[in-house]
Amino acid sequence: MNFESNNTTMKHNFGAGPCILPQEVFQQAANAVLDFNGLSILEVSHRHKDFVAVMDEAIDLVKKALNVPEGYSVAFLQGGASLGFTIVALNMMRDKKKAGYINTGTWASGAIKEAKKVGIDVDVFASSEDKNFTYIPKGYTIPTDVDYIHFTSNNTIYGTQFKEFPKTDLPLVCDMSSDIFSKEINVADFDIIYAGAQKNLGPAGATLYIVKDEILGKSSSTFMPTYLDLKQHVEKESMLNTPPVFSVYVAMLNLRNLLANGGVKAMEQRNNEKAALLYKEIDENPAFKGAVEVEDRSNMNVTFLLTDEDRTAEFDAMWKEAGIVGLPGHRSVGGYRASIYNALPIESVQVLVDVMRTFNQH
Ligand SMILES: *Cc1c(COP(=O)(O)O)cnc(C)c1O
Repeated sequence: MNFESNNTTMKHNFGAGPCILPQEVFQQAANAVLDFNGLSILEVSHRHKDFVAVMDEAIDLVKKALNVPEGYSVAFLQGGASLGFTIVALNMMRDKKKAGYINTGTWASGAIKEAKKVGIDVDVFASSEDKNFTYIPKGYTIPTDVDYIHFTSNNTIYGTQFKEFPKTDLPLVCDMSSDIFSKEINVADFDIIYAGAQKNLGPAGATLYIVKDEILGKSSSTFMPTYLDLKQHVEKESMLNTPPVFSVYVAMLNLRNLLANGGVKAMEQRNNEKAALLYKEIDENPAFKGAVEVEDRSNMNVTFLLTDEDRTAEFDAMWKEAGIVGLPGHRSVGGYRASIYNALPIESVQVLVDVMRTFNQH
């Protein structure tokens, strides 16, 4: 079997998720499907010491990559960030049963909806809904009479990203699904960080939680199914039930790869270069325009529009011809979205930029 053939097709995957991972990681993952210490990674017991070692290493690598301080735990669950909306609300609910949320788009709205469903009185103290989520709200007043504050660091669908996080002494919770491991963060500022794996970490299936130990077991909710209780997962070291074995394994491989290539700091530099290259073209090329406020632009999901929508079919044919995939914007907003996650090489961004230049000259 020749897995190398994968490399010769040269697709440039700008898909928003599940997303591109480094080719070496695909190769190693493929090998482990056939041979992981004599078994397939797909058939190995999650209780076997070989997989326990994988889980331990994955957790350890998350801590290394993000400099997770003492007093925090890392856990891998299932359910995606979507179940995370419910999990963080249930786990952070205290006596006030009230929380402050920033609404910056579809996922943030989803988090609000689920918090309400578990009985939290949600104060949406900042929102960019008035301009179809094309900016990040600023100058808001953070409420004080709430149990916690929640926001979404990167808005995958719209292409906006918080450059400065909300400053508060209240417990702070963040959905970092689409920009975790893309840049340095100060974990100590947060009480819970959660992220679906499939945007920058690994294959779909695992959901990462980084949790301040202090918050565990303090929910005021009378309804707390065992699986939704983060304390259970932390105590059982992510083995409360069968974890998403393959997803955690590949995330572990990807984190090894990240750390071997300079870690998050080096990644942030490369991501900045990729984003700068693409945004420069969007700004200088008259055939295109950005879709969101310049100062709030995401370094992970670059959204843009054609100045002349009548040329859509022509542009689509050109980027497809160049081997680009995954460029159309989310079905709810249209336009184009180039997701330039960690594993996407700058060479792929250059291919897109070249297509945009040629398109403008036509
Ligand atoms: C994709 C995404 C989600 C939803 O993730 P699932 O893992 O599919 O539940 C939530 N929040 C953000 C920011 C996302 O990008």
